[in-house]
Amino acid sequence: MSCLFCRIAAKEIPAAIVYEDEKVLAFNDIAPQAPVHILLIPKQHVDSIVDCKEVNSIFAVIKQIAKEKGIEATGYRIVVNHGRDAGQAVPHLHFHLLGGRQLNWPPG
Ligand code: AMP
Ligand code: ZN
Repeated sequence: MSCLFCRIAAKEIPAAIVYEDEKVLAFNDIAPQAPVHILLIPKQHVDSIVDCKEVNSIFAVIKQIAKEKGIEATGYRIVVNHGRDAGQAVPHLHFHLLGGRQLNWPPG
């Protein structure tokens, strides 16, 4: 298995997991860009958001984690980088959940 996030989902590579269920895994980003920076992935490999059947489940988890991390009221950003020009580094669909500081717009 070569995909980094598939390996994290399979527990072959350790990650700081903050949530897990049958279909969704959430873990801390290894290079956090904000006080809260969590990645959410469908456990099953999906390249693109348009092919992801777990989007509703992922958003429900985002809502739950935002509450747990205390950023529900202050706000947060959800980011999906898709493809080269967006700087996507890992080819397994992942949602960045960022919060805990003022986020500028547009991102660079
Ligand atoms: P992207 O540029 O949208 O593909 O984001 C990939 C993200 O994965 C980056 O924010 C990295 O810091 C993060 N990342 C890379 N390797 C790991 C890892 N082993 N555990 C947690 N996060 C990682
Ligand atoms: Zn994968």
